[in-house]
Amino acid sequence: MDHFPVFLRVKGRRIVLSGGGDAALAKLRLILKTTAHITVFATRPDPQIIALAESGKLTLHQRSMAPGDALCAALFYAADENDTEDARTSTIARADGALVNIVDNLEDSQFITPAIVDRDPVTVAIGTEGAAPVLARAIKADLETRLPPTLGTLARIGKSFRKMADALPFGRPRRDFWRAFYFDAGPEAVAKGELAVRESLNDLLQTHLHRESRPGQVHFIGAGPGDPDLLTLKARRILDEADVVIHDRLISQPVLELARREALMIDAGKEGFGPSMRQEDINALIVEHAKNGAQVVRLKSGDATVFGRLDEEIDAVDEHHIQWSIVPGITSASAAVATIGQSLTKRGRNSSVRFLTGHDTKGFADHDWAALARPGEVAAIYMGKKSARFIQGRLIMHGADRQTPVTVVENASRPEQRILETTLDALPAALSAADMTGPALTIYGLARRQAAALTGFDTANAHPRQEAF
Ligand code: SAH
Repeated sequence: MDHFPVFLRVKGRRIVLSGGGDAALAKLRLILKTTAHITVFATRPDPQIIALAESGKLTLHQRSMAPGDALCAALFYAADENDTEDARTSTIARADGALVNIVDNLEDSQFITPAIVDRDPVTVAIGTEGAAPVLARAIKADLETRLPPTLGTLARIGKSFRKMADALPFGRPRRDFWRAFYFDAGPEAVAKGELAVRESLNDLLQTHLHRESRPGQVHFIGAGPGDPDLLTLKARRILDEADVVIHDRLISQPVLELARREALMIDAGKEGFGPSMRQEDINALIVEHAKNGAQVVRLKSGDATVFGRLDEEIDAVDEHHIQWSIVPGITSASAAVATIGQSLTKRGRNSSVRFLTGHDTKGFADHDWAALARPGEVAAIYMGKKSARFIQGRLIMHGADRQTPVTVVENASRPEQRILETTLDALPAALSAADMTGPALTIYGLARRQAAALTGFDTANAHPRQEAF
């Protein structure tokens, strides 16, 4: 960002402009919206500028600018559309202490004027640092149609009401009140005039003052494997309203960015084998915030119900009679098979699929290895990197074909996704050679569809290879 957007207080201050033609008029149209004192210097001013001076909207001097003319000015516009004159006037203005803008000269300007959507006091400023004025205009046109003209009126009335609304407790109750005003009661009343809006504000405040405060709630949300597009609409909506977001280490940054700016973000990251926040502490955190009346989102990677210790958190919340809900998400097994173009189940191949974890509370997790070792079986193995050798050993011991395809998808759905194609035989060696540091899902029994098409049947390339997308 070479230009930092700010809203400059110009009330009662001077804005000076040199120029009397089209460029000057275009800028004047904008700055006349302000409550600044406007002074124009022009030897041959456009009749419209003369008319504006006569109606008292600005002060006009029909001469060229001289040193001292921009004293105490906040801003200066060089709008003579003449490089020499613009350079002369802007030198004067700079010496007088004003910030300078030279029309159509980005390089020598100290500030630029954005495209403005005006719903005073709601103002949207759009800038492209001079790169794409067409784009700025298109965005402006889009916003003009989206923001109702009454928005300004509502905001103005709302502003005068802020002190009264402070009677509501800070945080959620106050936010609920204002949301109801701007999106519900306000727009309804505004057609009937300002008085009606004020009355509706009063009624609304009384209702909110006497309303039982909304109890805290907990939403256990599956955030999917990382790609924010794989979040459900429901997850997105609830995230948008959350007061507190307690998230795992595996939640991707683009997903976290969808939370409200004001939301309190808490990283309850559990490093696989490193330091971690204890489960009891996470439970206590969830309960504490919900009891304070917050809308708590507990964001878990993939689907919250898959290897997520969800039940322990629900038990803790239940103990305190806090309301909760589960919002399903896309589990990494689904995301991983999608990337290799395969189905988790297939007629004639496997009529069931297992979701296994490499670890459980006692260490390497035990499973029905004999059943899994039969031909055609498919399993999605979570947290399977460290346990690869153990799993391989158990399966081979129970008669699994060493050439059974195994595909490991690291960082499924994320930009840094990698796919490792190997076999049961080569799995541990291939995994340690690949040196995966991201979350990885091991798909036992499936190769990439392309590889399957090449060889004509569902076995992996016998030589493990690692691929980056
Ligand atoms: N609830 C999660 C699983 C949590 S256990 C889900 O439904 O996906 C953590 C394990 O999930 C990781 O060790 C890894 O095996 C898997 N995982 C999570 N995100 C992943 C991703 N983007 N790509 C591959 N595997 C992932």
